[in-house]
Amino acid sequence: MTQKRIVIAIDGHSSCGKSTLAKSLARALGYIYIDSGAMYRAVTLYALRKGWIVNGQTNNKKILGGLSDIRITFQWDEAAGKNTTFLNGENVEEEIRKLEVSQNVSPISTLAEVRHEMVKQQRANGLKKGIVMDGRDIGTVVFPDAELKIFMTATPEIRAQRRYNELIEKGTEVNFQEILRNVEDRDAMDSTREISPLKIADDALILDNSHLTREEQLLWSLDRFNERTGNNES
Ligand code: C5P
Repeated sequence: MTQKRIVIAIDGHSSCGKSTLAKSLARALGYIYIDSGAMYRAVTLYALRKGWIVNGQTNNKKILGGLSDIRITFQWDEAAGKNTTFLNGENVEEEIRKLEVSQNVSPISTLAEVRHEMVKQQRANGLKKGIVMDGRDIGTVVFPDAELKIFMTATPEIRAQRRYNELIEKGTEVNFQEILRNVEDRDAMDSTREISPLKIADDALILDNSHLTREEQLLWSLDRFNERTGNNES
């Protein structure tokens, strides 16, 4: 019997391992994985390079005017076991993770036109189902009918420590307090913005992974997937 293909929406706070879980779920199920945050990050990188964000001030007119010149695509890198983000054909995967992009992405993602364009592209990716997408508004706005919605969270300190370790591992010089501040600032901005704020969908299942291993999170999610699809095999 062919298994029912569904849409899996994973939302939650910054740096709580959404993309790690989303990636491993997609891999286990043979689903497509789309990192919606990478799309907002790519728009931010584009604007930074163009000089449309200076000292945290965004030139909204320029950014909105330039939106149609931005093409964001993904390619699955089998060797690295991760998605690679391309901005107009250029591999920007490393650059969009840098602190400068993290510090400017939340104001960019409050712009209605930017969100409108990203949501359009995100929905196009989900037409055939069989997709895991992570972000802030996936279960509430992008795919309100998603069959499985997971809302992830963990304490700010644990999240900042994880992001700190990740950046240090990559050889980036960072300061823990600065990362913690960034995590808290982004949570506040994402939760209080007017358009598509980060909130828990009524039908979302909450996963607090403060003290769970990656393996435990994956097993928990696969169990929820099996419940939703009526598939009893583990
Ligand atoms: O998920 P990630 O932390 O990479 O996302 C970067 C930023 O993009 C978030 O802090 C948030 O401001 C924005 N974002 C969003 N809606 C999404 C995904 C990300 O507003 N669906």
